[in-house]
Amino acid sequence: MRHILILGGTTEGRRLAEELAGLPGLRVTSSLAGRVSAPRLPPGEVRVGGFGGAAGLADWLREHRVTTLVDATHPFARVISRNAAQAAAETGVRLLALRRPGWQPVPGDRWHLVDSLEQAADALPALGRRALLTTGRQGLAAFARVEGVHLVARSVEPPDPPLPADLTVLLSRGPFQLQDERAVFREHRIDVLVTKDSGGAATAPKLAVARELAVPVVIVRRPALPDGVPIVPDVAGVLGELGLGCDSVGPVGPE
Ligand code: NAP
Repeated sequence: MRHILILGGTTEGRRLAEELAGLPGLRVTSSLAGRVSAPRLPPGEVRVGGFGGAAGLADWLREHRVTTLVDATHPFARVISRNAAQAAAETGVRLLALRRPGWQPVPGDRWHLVDSLEQAADALPALGRRALLTTGRQGLAAFARVEGVHLVARSVEPPDPPLPADLTVLLSRGPFQLQDERAVFREHRIDVLVTKDSGGAATAPKLAVARELAVPVVIVRRPALPDGVPIVPDVAGVLGELGLGCDSVGPVGPE
């Protein structure tokens, strides 16, 4: 039986599991890092927690007879993507990376592209006085050195110290609608936004509100995927690659 391991933690990873769960002749396991205390669980089998590096992942692939590995992790989850490439190369298991395309600027956007959270922090004082940070709780330490800017950080879980001194934390989980984002910008008098180039529709409304208000946006560019990993932009593309697209759904044979 084919066994597909989805490295998840993203909307796309969950949607892929939803599409694959229940198909005959297919075993589907989703893997979550375990960072979020009450994650939305995908259908199918789920395992939680690290594998113990690339070697641990390779062991898991062999032990559970995985035939295809789908790296559906977040574009900024750099370590697990590197481990996936190494483990796939070591075991000969097929690897696909499911990566939603990054955002593209449109007229009216005032984007400042940077390569790291540290560069984003350095850019802030010249751009505004009240910054909305949507870069995740794990990177907040990079903003500790910012002076003269009040930081409003949004995250799903409370961030761990050390934290920047001049900080308000908003605990909430997306997706956020346009009116939610307008309210946040208004209530906190946001005059600069910091985000990673996560891509996707779920987090794009904040960019639309920044455009409406002519608020500058500092965007952290994505890290590159390891060389040679085939990239598929959406769930339908993965289904097509697996021979399970709309035109090809039927009995599933061995790969
Ligand atoms: P990371 O730095 O690339 O990975 C750190 C370690 O966490 C990995 O070496 C691995 O541990 C473990 N890990 C990561 N993803 C895993 C998964 N899906 N299943 C099992 N173990 C996993 O990852 P991260 O940036 O901390 O992200 C962690 C998770 O949150 C990912 O699943 C990602 O999709 C999701 N996420 C990340 C972001 C972001 O901005 N980085 C945003 C939204 C969601 P071992 O080496 O022990 O195997």
